[in-house]
Parts: sequence; structure tokens; C-alpha cells
Amino acid sequence: MSGMSKIVFFCIPAHGHTNPTLGVVRELTARGHEVWYYSYNVFREKIEAAGGIFISCDDCDIERGLSPKDAARMGGDLAFSIKILTDTTLALDDRVCAEMEKLKPDCIVADSMAIWGKAVARKLGIPFVSSTTTFAFNRHSAKIMPQSAGSLIKMAFSMPKISKEIKRLQEKGYPIKSFLDILQNDDNTHTIVYTSPAFQPASETFSEKYAFVGPSIRPASEKIEKKRSKLVYISMGTVNNDMMPFYKSCISALKNTEYQVILSVGHLVSLSEFGELPENISLFAHVDQIAVLEQADVFVSHCGMNSVSESLYFGVPLVMLPQTAEQCGVAVRVCQLGAGIRLESVDADALLQAIGEVLANEVYGKNARSLAEGFRRCSGAEGAADKILEVCKSGV
Ligand code: UDP
Repeated sequence: MSGMSKIVFFCIPAHGHTNPTLGVVRELTARGHEVWYYSYNVFREKIEAAGGIFISCDDCDIERGLSPKDAARMGGDLAFSIKILTDTTLALDDRVCAEMEKLKPDCIVADSMAIWGKAVARKLGIPFVSSTTTFAFNRHSAKIMPQSAGSLIKMAFSMPKISKEIKRLQEKGYPIKSFLDILQNDDNTHTIVYTSPAFQPASETFSEKYAFVGPSIRPASEKIEKKRSKLVYISMGTVNNDMMPFYKSCISALKNTEYQVILSVGHLVSLSEFGELPENISLFAHVDQIAVLEQADVFVSHCGMNSVSESLYFGVPLVMLPQTAEQCGVAVRVCQLGAGIRLESVDADALLQAIGEVLANEVYGKNARSLAEGFRRCSGAEGAADKILEVCKSGV
């Protein structure tokens, strides 16, 4: 057998789900393996730069064709989300199956939300690895993450509607019994999780098929100048960041303090609306977050998995204002591990008090640094590549 393996990746159109896989693609192609990556045009450049062969799924992007009202139902309305995932799987079906028959990949790697990857692997009997950019899920971690349990219950309620989608898939030759079966990875599914065993809730309850390879942190592209002894960094991420009242509250809380403040507000609010800023506060639509975190003392964050992993990687404790169920799960975990506190209200006083508490009480920073050590001990993209190649070799 030749040493070269052929690996096919599938992902959903989201930076947070694509970015962690890029280091793995780079590692695999650097070792001489071939990676075909089914993704969306906006990611073409990144995927090709990592050495992957890009294949566009834009003409099957059902989610993009949704009205804003329907798009807002994704994530929250499970039956609806599953219909969209099924539509996407069926839209890709003919083409992807034909291409897989031709390519004969040694393994398919798919994001846990890109269910069409897992579905095609099952249908054609191709070895499969799941790639999970959030926490891995089983009944033990669900106990620790009340939000995930909530969505499971919701799923149970929407079962009748979901069985219709299962039927549609079965009619096209997909051997799928239930959606739990396809959404959840059981003990027998090879799974790469981009966090550490210490940060993953109940990590000891997952089988040896799970590889906790740690977050993949891109290098900083600049060096931020630290102007005062404490640097406060604030960002609500890149998606749901239209939060003018919160940003205004941050400015009024922090304007007369000794802190240096960097505020990243995203592209949905207009910078000119902020008027003149106090000398200690700088405002940007986007920053090099890695460069900022290398210098920051506290991060006021919406708790996206990437932001929190990056913060902890640099030992920076958090003040947390999660917006979605997934972000709440991440915030709950950070609280359990004592690396930050959750903001109870967004008024200026509460904000100032929370920031002051995290800066003054050394225990938050200490816990964040201990999680950082755990991240740095993980096997990273190299470990993820080893795992994928093992599956290629074993053929199951
Ligand atoms: N990010 C950045 N600059 C900014 C704001 C965000 O580079 O000004 C990056 C951040 O480093 C992270 C990603 O955008 O990698 C945000 O991902 P996350 O999962 O935290 O939240 P989302 O934006 O998906 O809600």
C-alpha cells in the first residue's frame, strides 16, 4: 500500500467551525497526504493556503437562501434546523456520492454540524472521523451543561416532525435510524475535540475513540503596545455583536479608570456613533484578538468557544456575558473552573465591579493559567492528524 492517504473534509459555512480544522489540513498535506475540502467560497483562500483542494458547496447552501426570519430559527428551533440539514444533505447527495465513488477516500472528516459528511460516510461505508469545535456531548457532560440537556428535551418534543426528515434520508439510501444517532457521537465514533481534557466537562466519561487535541491558536500578526498596568479587552465576537447599549455602558464604566481599554465592536455598529472617546479607551471594528490577548489582563467576552479558548490559552481570566445556549454552556464551565465570573447585569456599576473583582482576586488568573498549561500539553493539529491517519489505516 502506498503511504499516501486521501482524506475528505466537510464543514458548515462558519469561521468558528472551519478555523480549527485548518491546522489539521496543513499538517496532513505537509506529511504528503491529499485533502479534499467541501466548503464555501468565502473559505476557499484559507483552505487552499492550508494545502487543501477546495470544493465549493455554495450552490447547495440552503441556509443562505433563507429569509432573515427563517435564518433566525436556525439553532433555536431544532425541528427546523434539522429540516435544513436534511435539505442540504439531499441537495448534495447525487453529486457527493458520485464524487466519493470516484475519489475513494480513505476517510471522511466532518464537522459535527455538517451531518451530510457523516451521512455519506455511513451510506458508502467510508471510515469516519467527527470534528467537534464545541464541547463533546454525552449524558454525563449534559448534566454539567444544563443548556445542552435543554436542547435534547426540545429535540424529544419535536420528534414527530423529525421522523419525516429521517424518512426522506432513508428513501435516498441513508441507513439512519434517528437524528440523535447522527447529531450525537456515541462511544464508537472517532471524534476530534478541539479542547483539553481539563476544560471538556466529564472528559473521563468519553471512550478512547475521542481525541482531545486542544484549541488551535493562530499566531499574532502584530504586537500591541501596553500603555497602562492593566489592559481590559472587550469583544462580543463576530456574529451577534450589534450591542450599542452594552458598548456605551462599557465606555461610561471605564472612562475615568486607570485601565487601558480596547473595545472591538464588530461591523454592525457605526464607529462614528460613539463620538469622541476618553483617552484610555480605543475602539475598533475588528482587532487582532490574539495580539490583544497576549497583553490583556481581563477579557469581557460573549463566550464564543474560540474567544474563551484563546483567552485561557494566554491565561487571561474572563468577565462573561453569554448570549446563546452554547455560549452559556461555555460560561458555566469557566465559572466551574474558577477562571472568570458571569456578568449579572450590564449596567456600568456591575461591569466595573466584575472587572475589578477579576483583576484584584488572583485566583481567577491562576486558574486561567492552569487551564493554559493543560491546553499547551495537548497534542494539537499533529495529534488530530495522527488520529485521522490511524483511522485511514485501520479502515473502520
Ligand atoms: N476575532 C478577532 N478580532 C475581533 C473579534 C473576534 O480576531 O475583533 C476572532 C476571535 O479571535 C475568534 C473569533 O473571531 O477566533 C470569534 O469566534 P468565537 O467563537 O469566539 O465567536 P463568534 O464570533 O463565532 O460568535
